[in-house]
Amino acid sequence: MINLEEVYKKAGALLEGHFLLSSGNHSQYYLQSAKVLEDTKVAEMLAKELAIMIREAGIKVDTVCAPALGGILAGYELARALDARFIFAERVDKVMTLRRGFEVREGENVLICEDIITTAGSALEAAKTVEEHGANIVAFAALANRGFCKRNGSDKEAKPECKLPKDMPFFALDDFDFEIYESENCPLCVDGSEAYKPGSRGN
Ligand code: ZN
Repeated sequence: MINLEEVYKKAGALLEGHFLLSSGNHSQYYLQSAKVLEDTKVAEMLAKELAIMIREAGIKVDTVCAPALGGILAGYELARALDARFIFAERVDKVMTLRRGFEVREGENVLICEDIITTAGSALEAAKTVEEHGANIVAFAALANRGFCKRNGSDKEAKPECKLPKDMPFFALDDFDFEIYESENCPLCVDGSEAYKPGSRGN
């Protein structure tokens, strides 16, 4: 079994500081999955592990679809490991859209893949987009689960924030269940530091 936390630490992808998340909440930790996936051998190994879980669950995948930008690397590797096709959805004027000539057949079995699933908002938007093109969503997957949704094989229940349908299988290699604070209740803010957006200081 892979120790995902070790993999992220070794890659310098588990950042510690005072982060402003895209949700507007604050956190002491931030996962920079692109740092893990820059090593193509590690990316391949993680995707193969995830593919084993999906195959063992008996799920047949024709196509992996990732929401851009975060899910693309993980999704591409997972598609390769599953011997499936790969497409991605991207936002155009905030609406998740299929561009670049990507098409989906009626009844095609599509798995949605992210690097990290938090509440699964973007993943669900990508799912709706391909469903509108006639696809059949068979599962969701991510390298890591931030602890809001329930992944297959874990006894940790989903929190109310999780947007994934309850009956939909969700595969991830591990849970990264860090505290997330609302900006008005953040102990790091109380200590006097200021939250910053990951990436804005060269990381
Ligand atoms: Zn804060």
